[in-house]
Formats: sequence, structure tokens, C-alpha cells
Amino acid sequence: MKKYLLFLSVLLFAACQQSSYDKIRNYLETIEIVDTHEHIQVPGDSADFQFFNGISYFPADMTSAGAPSFRELQKNGFDADKLWELSGSYYNYSRATSYHEQFMNTLRILYDYEKPYLRKEDIKPLYDRMLANNYRNYDAWFASVYKKGKFKTMILDQYWDHFNIDIDTSYFRLVCNINSLVMLVSEAAENKKVTSASGLLKLMNRKEIVAESLDDYLSVVSSVLGIFKNNGAVAIKNTLAYSRSIYFEDVTFEEASVLYNKKVKLEWADRKKLEDFIFHHIIRQSINLDMPIQIHTGYLAGNNSRLDNGQPMKLLNLFLKFPKARFSLFHGGYPWTGDFVAIGKNFTNVHLDLVWLPQISKTEAVSTLHGMLDAVPYNKIMWGGDVSWIDDSIGSLELAKEVVATVLSERVDKGWLTKELALEIAGRIFRDNAMDFFKL
Ligand SMILES: [Zn+2]
Repeated sequence: MKKYLLFLSVLLFAACQQSSYDKIRNYLETIEIVDTHEHIQVPGDSADFQFFNGISYFPADMTSAGAPSFRELQKNGFDADKLWELSGSYYNYSRATSYHEQFMNTLRILYDYEKPYLRKEDIKPLYDRMLANNYRNYDAWFASVYKKGKFKTMILDQYWDHFNIDIDTSYFRLVCNINSLVMLVSEAAENKKVTSASGLLKLMNRKEIVAESLDDYLSVVSSVLGIFKNNGAVAIKNTLAYSRSIYFEDVTFEEASVLYNKKVKLEWADRKKLEDFIFHHIIRQSINLDMPIQIHTGYLAGNNSRLDNGQPMKLLNLFLKFPKARFSLFHGGYPWTGDFVAIGKNFTNVHLDLVWLPQISKTEAVSTLHGMLDAVPYNKIMWGGDVSWIDDSIGSLELAKEVVATVLSERVDKGWLTKELALEIAGRIFRDNAMDFFKL
């Protein structure tokens, strides 16, 4: 009995001694994750897998450091010595970044790789295991990684196939990425038909889509959105910042009609106006269909991009014009994180998604989440991983949990939050807010 009492008091003491960080971190391990945004794809040809190029995001840091293009490295098949000889120094220069941390999280959790940095001699054995998992045993490997991350569902943005509605709903939820639909308006205007988008033709079950007038094209757009909605899509996605500014100005139907009927090859400025008009139409439809709209704001993946395309403040006219639409802004608007927070605070129709921000900059994610909790009600904050490779869903989730647990525990330790409220906020960010927002 004495021994038992002693054991109990040791347990109790240990529980009391647990830091706020550990308590929140442990709680996060019990939560089923509703992940608002992923691009997970079945791996293609194994010959294209050259280790670094398979990882989500980190290769861009090596490129930024000065590494040669991975296409160059791929020419004669995989060779770990050659890879290191050409890119090892650039790997080393990139070891302090958050992209790198995501990568090391993945290696530690899925491949038991405990070293803080990658060593040349470990590349080949890791490559062999990754190849076996992802190219020879993908279905079982995917299911085991998904289970390890305790994912409940992932909202899948198929940027490689905007019009595909056939996805595995036991793992994913459909989102309608409208980039192609918006940009195809120029082809429709110039030719009065669309023939170039095979995915759209397949979806509509037609050989070509005739659109003699702007009204005809608007009904194509509405039909596509309706088909997606009927097939379970939970949201609309706009990633146009990768190709143009996210300022979608107000264009009247009359002005858009004149442009549509011009019968000449459209100038860039005219194309933009038509695209702006189409996106306004899509927002109107999103209200009718009760589908929220996720919008890419801020930083762009890759290298050498027009980073100013995605400034969140460029969207203010839309938030004001469509009070009944429901918007979710992505990526903390980085580097315009202050603007992003202010918008979430001010607008009743805007939610904020931390998606990808922890990987871009862990420190910025910590300070932005502090700013969000200072200013924005916590029912408006969500998270997504934003990776293409299932392995990286684990590395990115780990990074996000570390960010959220750091911020919440710092606030608990300062007496700004109770532990109970901190746990509630953690659950809201990783699950409940997305369940409510997307009506899952
Ligand atoms: Zn994305």
C-alpha cells in the first residue's frame, strides 16, 4: 500500500511539473486533424525522383543559395555522390531555414533519422527507403502516414488537374480551383469557344464548349461550380497570385461584354478586366451555393516570382462588395502578416488560415499567431499543410504543432490565457474551426 501511495504521488507530482508547452503539445497529439489545404499526389515516374527534388519546398532554398537546377543533376539517373558534389555546399547553407526544419521533421518521424543535419553518407540509404515506400508500396505507405498524422480529412487542391472531381473521399475533400475557369475567358472571347482545356471538356462531356456571348461563358462557369458542389466540393480556391495581381477590379457587365465581343486578340489589360469580371461572378455564385472561397495571399512557392501579386490589401474591394461571401485568406499573407491580421479582425466575412506559414518562417508564424490571438476571435483561425508529398504532411504538421504550442504556452506562462482556454484554442485551430467553416 505504501509503495502504491508513493507511486501515485510521484505520478501526480510529474503531472503537476509538466510544462504548459508539454501539456499543450501532448494534447495536440490526441486531436484528429482537419487539414484545410494539401496538394498530395500519387508519385509519378521513379526515375524523376532525385532525393532533394522530391521534397516539398526545401529545394527552393538550395536554389536560392545558388545550387544548379535539379534537371541538370537528373541527366544520368540518381547518383548520391554526384548530387552531393554539385549541391552539398548549397544544402549546408540552407540548414537553418524553416523549409529545412520541415524536411528534418519528416526524416526524424518517418525514417527515424535523428541527426540534426543530413550527412552525405546517409542520402543513398534514405533514398532507397523513400523509393520503396513511395514508388513500390504507395497505397499502404500513404495509409500508414495518414494514420500517423491522425488526419481526419484533407481539402485537396488539384492544381495539376483543376477539373477533376474523382478523388478518394475517404482521405480527401474536393475543392474547386477556379484559376483555369477564370483564365479561359480570353480563349472563349477570342474564339467564341473553348477547345484547349481537356479536363473541362471531359467534365462537361463535350468535344468543344461554344460560348458565343459573355452570358454563354458565365453559364459555363456556373455549371462547373454546380457540378463541383454536387460532387461534394466544400470550397472554391483562387491561386491566381501565381500568374497575376489579386486586385480584381469592378467591371460592369456592359464593359465586359464589349471586351468579349471585340473579335481581336485581346491585350493583357483587357484580358485582366474580363478575368476580374469572371471572378466577381464566381463570388456571387459562391454565395448562392454556400461555398467559401480560399484565396492565396502573400508569398509564392519557388524562386524569382512577382511577390507583390498577392498583397492581401488588394482584396478589400471584394470583402466590402460581397458581405455575404465567406473568404479564407492563406499563408498569413506573408510578408504582409500585419495586414492579414488586421483584415481578419475587421471583416466579418474573412477567416484566416495559417497554412504553409510555419514552413515559410517558423518565427514569423509564432509572432503572427500571437498577433492574431491579440486581435482576432479564435473561431476564425485554421491550419493546412500545403505539401505535395504525403511524407511531408508529417513534417509540416509537426512544425505547425510546435508553433501553436509555443504561442499558447507562452501566453499561459505569462498569465494571458488559462490552460483550459489554450487547449480549446488548439483544438479550434487544428479541427473545429475548419469543421464549422467548411460545414464538414
Ligand atoms: Zn497550396
